Amino acid sequence: MSLESQLQTNGVVIAKIDDLLNWARLSSMWPVSFGIACCAIEMMGAMASTYDLDRFGIFPRPSPRQSDVMIIAGTVTFKMAERIRILYEQMPEPKYVISMGSCSNCGGPYWQHGYHVVKGVDKIIPVDVYVQGCPPRPEALIGAFLELQKKIETESILGDQLFPQEA
Ligand code: SF4
Repeated sequence: MSLESQLQTNGVVIAKIDDLLNWARLSSMWPVSFGIACCAIEMMGAMASTYDLDRFGIFPRPSPRQSDVMIIAGTVTFKMAERIRILYEQMPEPKYVISMGSCSNCGGPYWQHGYHVVKGVDKIIPVDVYVQGCPPRPEALIGAFLELQKKIETESILGDQLFPQEA
């Protein structure tokens, strides 16, 4: 029985601490607010009133230190790559990355002749969810967050991340 239905039926919840933590984490994902090219316009559209990402508990934050999600929305140039890496390293663990659009996924229209473009942001930081399209529509970004929620739901934060096991 899900946590929501337990609450509705019994008024109390008996759950593993991992389930409670994951429920809180997947209900309050805070992406760091920055965009690097045209895909960022669609990202901003997803946050505006028509699509309203707030209803999923998704609020953009102005600092990487307050964020647990990074959306790479746009073309990753070699000049920008180092800045992206620094922002990523400033985010606290556990953290997640959504690669939004063809440029971020693989270089997009610049994959062959764009000497200045990184051919996939996963060459500099790990990516959890890829969104296809040039640009992807806001619905596709919402779909990526739903995928991320499914991933977070299955994680064991106590066992795997806060207290990592020795290899
Ligand atoms: S994927 Fe298309 S829309 Fe997105 S940043 Fe690249 S060129 Fe622009």
